[in-house]
Amino acid sequence: MTKVYLSLGSNMGNRQDYLKKAVESLDRLLETEVKAVSSYYETAAWGLTDQADFLNLALALDTQLPAESLLSACQAIEKDLDRVRHEHWGPRTVDIDILLYGQEIWRTEHLKVPHPLMTQRAFVLVPLLEIAENLVEPQTGQAYKKYLSQIDTSDVRKLEQVD
Ligand code: AMP
Repeated sequence: MTKVYLSLGSNMGNRQDYLKKAVESLDRLLETEVKAVSSYYETAAWGLTDQADFLNLALALDTQLPAESLLSACQAIEKDLDRVRHEHWGPRTVDIDILLYGQEIWRTEHLKVPHPLMTQRAFVLVPLLEIAENLVEPQTGQAYKKYLSQIDTSDVRKLEQVD
């Protein structure tokens, strides 16, 4: 079993519902069990800022799927949830990123793990550290909470009320 951390985000439609469905789909994958799910966090869009706020969460899972198979499975779930709402190709309802896959380091065209931008993104690190406070970066042994202490977290707000 390999311990994996994912980041999920949605900024379209019923964001909470899409995230919930994505977590359920991940838990249904063969040889995979979701072990922890963070709270939902409302976060301002990053990069292209003139779009709706995101809802983000982080989750931990144990899996026997190899990293590339897990990536394909995540992409299939994204595609599947998109179909719930869209006839045509458009902005995605759910984005799933692999943050960490055990201690493995991948730098291929299709898979970059640890996720290269995770140390700069409060919307990734805040939920992640809620479920894994003492997580360290595989390559350097640096604590992710040290990275978090160096970035602005003011745009990341925990949702207290969840139906
Ligand atoms: P995006 O549209 O930003 O979700 O990017 C999707 C693309 O990123 C896909 O082509 C993936 O193959 C690639 N990718 C590289 N590393 C990762 C990762 N750690 N998690 C998810 N997608 C990744």
